Amino acid sequence: MAQLKALGGTSDILPGEVEGWQRLESTARQVMALYGMREIRTPLLEEAEVFTRSLGEAAEIVTKQMYRFEDRGGRTVTLRPEGTASIVRALIEHGLDKSGGLQRFYYLGPMFRAERPQAGRRRQFHQIGVEVFGTDSPHQDVEVIALLVRLLAAWGVSVAKVAGDSGAVLVLNNLGCREDRPRLLKQLKTYFLEHDGGLCADCKERLGSNPLRILDCKKERCHTLAKGSMTSAWICDACRRHFDQVLKGLGKLGIRYEHDRHLVRGLDYYTRTAFEVIYPGLGAQNALGGGGRYDDLVRQMGGAEVPAVGFAVGLERVLLALGKGAGSDGPASSGGPVFVATLCAEEIPEGLERAEALRARGIPSVAGLEPRPLRKQLDQANRLGCRWVVLRGQQERAEGKVAVKNMESGEQSAVEEARWLEWLQDRLKS
Ligand code: AMP
Repeated sequence: MAQLKALGGTSDILPGEVEGWQRLESTARQVMALYGMREIRTPLLEEAEVFTRSLGEAAEIVTKQMYRFEDRGGRTVTLRPEGTASIVRALIEHGLDKSGGLQRFYYLGPMFRAERPQAGRRRQFHQIGVEVFGTDSPHQDVEVIALLVRLLAAWGVSVAKVAGDSGAVLVLNNLGCREDRPRLLKQLKTYFLEHDGGLCADCKERLGSNPLRILDCKKERCHTLAKGSMTSAWICDACRRHFDQVLKGLGKLGIRYEHDRHLVRGLDYYTRTAFEVIYPGLGAQNALGGGGRYDDLVRQMGGAEVPAVGFAVGLERVLLALGKGAGSDGPASSGGPVFVATLCAEEIPEGLERAEALRARGIPSVAGLEPRPLRKQLDQANRLGCRWVVLRGQQERAEGKVAVKNMESGEQSAVEEARWLEWLQDRLKS
């Protein structure tokens, strides 16, 4: 029988590796709480229209990357390729767009895009994101970016403070508002029509459908051509002021940025500020995360006029940036559970009781639960990354004691039966 395997571009996350993920998630929850962001969970499966209406039928995610299919009831559904559109759908569905005031959300979970898998590009990948609804203040853009920078730093990825520093780089741009967009598109069209001989076949098509996407093209010639395309003549005064204030606000917080006039990001709903955090060491897929303002999206999806700003960061890429060390930050380095060895069948109930006593004090523990020789039990404790093993040989039993072994130093202490729990708890604290 052919062996069953996970689909290409999807991965199992096994124990040993999953601890790195849990660390990212729990750190993220702490940082989100610092900013008063509240978690929102939306379904992985949505009506396809949630994304076609928000991202646009012509967006690459919609045309090429969405897992879209008919369900048994004949509805066209899709696995969510990103979080924002679902959250806007939920906001409108529950009338939160009309409640006034600020709505501050974060989310985490898997997203799905049918892309060609490569390093840092998966078909099922995981994002943590933030969306703030209800203000068009440039200070909100600054706060959201500051959150992203703090989150990355809490994970161990620092954003460069001065040019040339190693670490991640914050890049941002001003994409103007809905009144500016036709002027921008016209400028791009005129420019690229004059130079269309140099464009790839895809970009020639984009020239007709959405010239903004040409700025995203990774092909060398299109990229070089695009460099000459952007001036800021089309940006209105209000958007210019907004962007100036964002830059000033970042400066005040000591967050270094680079202004890249060609940064447009893959999604059309962005207005005014758009940003990305790049980790140069990651090769072709080097954006750790990105986001921006989307002041028209809630209205465009059928809701009230509610400005918003947010970002999403990809966990796979953060783990890649942190290197293998982050992904294997498993039980060994965090101390691991206490292993309660059970050397013979009669000891098993007692072992289980000891493990429960540890758990009652909030100390993770694993009991052997099989009558196995000590060597085998210690092997198992090692595999689980346990730093401490509790055991009782014949001698300890005769003396009314319990042996506690430190797996790192190899040192073993015989402790009075009545005191072993306190004794171990003290050691775990220090
Ligand atoms: P986006 O939703 O396209 O703005 O992407 C935000 C972040 O999600 C990116 O910077 C990546 O870190 C991550 N990401 C997007 N697509 C993928 C993918 N196919 N595989 C892994 N990570 C991804």
